Amino acid sequence: MKSFMESGAPVPRRGMLIFVIAGALLMAASIMAGAIMSPEGKDIPVVLADGEVITPPWYITIDGEKIALVDSQQTAQEVVGDVIEEYRRGSGTVLDIEVKEETQTEKMEIKNGDKAPDILTEKEAKELLSEGKNGESYLTVVTTEEQVQQEPIEFEQEYKPEPDMYIGEKKVETEGKEGTKEVVKKVVKENGRSIREEVLEEEVLEEPQEEIVLTGTKNYDGYGGGTGNYSGDNVSYDPSAVYETLGNPIDNIYISSGFGQRWGRLHSGIDFALAQGNSIYAADDGQVYFSGVSGGYGNLVKIDHGNGMQTYYAHCSKLLVSQGQHVSKGEKIALVGSTGNSTGPHLHFEVIINGNCVNPLDFLDL
Ligand SMILES: [Zn+2]
Repeated sequence: MKSFMESGAPVPRRGMLIFVIAGALLMAASIMAGAIMSPEGKDIPVVLADGEVITPPWYITIDGEKIALVDSQQTAQEVVGDVIEEYRRGSGTVLDIEVKEETQTEKMEIKNGDKAPDILTEKEAKELLSEGKNGESYLTVVTTEEQVQQEPIEFEQEYKPEPDMYIGEKKVETEGKEGTKEVVKKVVKENGRSIREEVLEEEVLEEPQEEIVLTGTKNYDGYGGGTGNYSGDNVSYDPSAVYETLGNPIDNIYISSGFGQRWGRLHSGIDFALAQGNSIYAADDGQVYFSGVSGGYGNLVKIDHGNGMQTYYAHCSKLLVSQGQHVSKGEKIALVGSTGNSTGPHLHFEVIINGNCVNPLDFLDL
């Protein structure tokens, strides 16, 4: 590719009247002076067949092909220069202009008595060059521009757990607002069409305002978070090292809702869907320290296993043990029901270690 900015002044080649002009437009005046001073460049008038007297016209050649004929070398140079300069009117500051093709001027060989040649006006020649034969320009002008634009910065959403709203419910507490940044880009265009972009610099003009979305954590069986503190994804215990596998609290396992882990206090146990009246068993040896009605839990049994672990059995239709009673692993303690905040018969089963609700699946062998 020939750089428009870097090209030097035209040099006649081996005495032929061919001058490289692409890239030399800024120096058009001196080029002309040079052309006129050159002995070969002297434009001697000729008398045409129809009696008209003209100086020899000049071709504009592109990659060696004669594209247009105009009245003088100066016109030829101006036509090419104007077509290239047209692309300087970009949307940014033009850092560089290059032309892919090689453009030259070439004097027409003409002598006395020749037929009048078909000479284009400057305007016609410009149109021909920029529109080409099929609307495609004869020249590929590559501009490198620096553009400065303001662009929006998207806002982020923060989810805030809301225990008074059900899981799946959302409400915008604080509306988000886009910010603004100033972006400096280098854009490379071919004949005005962007072909490459590169971000050089970004400056934040206005920070975006984060959107705060309240997100329900209340489980449909009536409570989110249970009683203990949720331990999160990274539990600090080693189940296999300290605790034996628990016995299954029911016979036919179907998990209808897993242990929640997303926003801290989502679902403090797991739900086993089971028909009303099915048996519930103690998961391990221990002592019943609660057996009664407890808010959203409905009929609830709490067993302390004496090793820092407790288990909860909620929504029971019937309680079969009483407070203070010792129970063995696998012993029947209650019947499945739908008491408390529950939409259908199921067992809500919780495992609590050192006051933290943990995922019961870590301790069950289903
Ligand atoms: Zn539950």
